[in-house]
Amino acid sequence: MNTPDIVVAGLGAHGASLVHELALRGASVLGLDMLTPPHGQGSTTGRTRITREAYYEDPLYVPLVQRAGELWTELEELTGAVLVRRTGGLMAGMPQSELVLGSLASARQHGLPHELLDGDGIRRRFPVMQPREHVVGVYELNAGVLLLDACMRTLYGQAQAYGAELRMDTRITGWSADRDGVRLTTSSGDVRTPQVVFAPGPWMNTLLAMEQGPAPVQLELVIERQTTHWFAPAPGVKGLSADECPITMLEMADGLMMYTLPDVGHGVKAGLHHHGAIVTPETVDRTVSTLEEQLLRALLEDWMPGSAHHAVDASVCLYTNTPDHHFLVDRHPSHENVLLLSACSGHGFKFAPALAEVAADLMLEGTCAFDVTAFAVDRLVG
Ligand SMILES: Cc1cc2nc3c(=O)[nH]c(=O)nc-3n(C[C@H](O)[C@H](O)[C@H](O)COP(=O)(O)OP(=O)(O)OC[C@H]3O[C@@H](n4cnc5c(N)ncnc54)[C@H](O)[C@@H]3O)c2cc1C
Repeated sequence: MNTPDIVVAGLGAHGASLVHELALRGASVLGLDMLTPPHGQGSTTGRTRITREAYYEDPLYVPLVQRAGELWTELEELTGAVLVRRTGGLMAGMPQSELVLGSLASARQHGLPHELLDGDGIRRRFPVMQPREHVVGVYELNAGVLLLDACMRTLYGQAQAYGAELRMDTRITGWSADRDGVRLTTSSGDVRTPQVVFAPGPWMNTLLAMEQGPAPVQLELVIERQTTHWFAPAPGVKGLSADECPITMLEMADGLMMYTLPDVGHGVKAGLHHHGAIVTPETVDRTVSTLEEQLLRALLEDWMPGSAHHAVDASVCLYTNTPDHHFLVDRHPSHENVLLLSACSGHGFKFAPALAEVAADLMLEGTCAFDVTAFAVDRLVG
């Protein structure tokens, strides 16, 4: 490819969605990744992801996740791939918990189809669940499971079909930017481009530090180690498949939050949301300990007795957290032609195609319809 209009650095969920969106709009786009995603080293790994609309974190996310839902469905219709299993979702906890109150607030503010179930209501609807006393649940229809590998394969395939060039195993080792453009030093030669998008996930500060300039910027981002686990149910235990069981999030009395995904072929998946060790991608312990497995098994067995008879798999994955857990979609503080795209804090995957529309608008039009004030870089510059 001659000089691409735009280079996208990092081809995880967000970089892949963006090369697809830019190519769809006719831009000449080059995507670079130092590995061959989806790989297990960053954040886009682990077979499946939850999507949900009754967004406890903040109602501002509801229009964005709804738009993303439309775009995932469009991709399915276009390609025939199955990317989403609509299972419904249950956000459970004490009536005054952040999860229940936040989910209810978003559902009511945006008129989402939902029900508030008490303990008996949960047991009747989902007999495999045994909520503790006083636990209630917000049940929403539109939640479900995103099939990560199929999503990524489809995004890469469609991006290439629209003319994007994807260079895997190409590491960016340095860069500089001025009004005339950006020069990237890579493991397979230099690349020049008028504009670049950095979507390196947990390596954002590593990549920013590679700037060949007076004062490379560093952002308030924290990398957090997370483990995910797959369990096989005890013989005879029913009601755990994606046709019968919703995704769930459970806020426990001590503030721990567990999420579960029904069996889509690898067993019931469970993990804790946050509460992980602060690490770097280079030094993180990538082995899951017996203690971590036992903790999740105990929590899952308490919530869904018989669902975690024995472990079948486990993996380590990384969150890139901002202090307020909102995303980062903004221009580099010193370079208008460098866009920073980091949407994680453990909840970014579901939004990928919609955030790609936002980023493509910013790169191609200079502005976007979606209010990205909450995603500004200024709040992350120390
Ligand atoms: C355990 C876990 C569970 C999660 N569950 C959910 C969920 O249920 N729902 C949800 O919506 N979200 C969830 N998330 C969050 C979601 O997975 C992330 O927000 C998303 O995957 C982030 O993607 P990314 O593209 O920013 O980063 P990554 O996937 O990490 O991609 C970054 C890419 O940049 C490349 N790169 C880095 N440096 C360089 C360089 N110098 N040169 C070239 N390439 C480079 C890397 O190789 C990598 O492929 C979860 C995350 C984890 C860890």
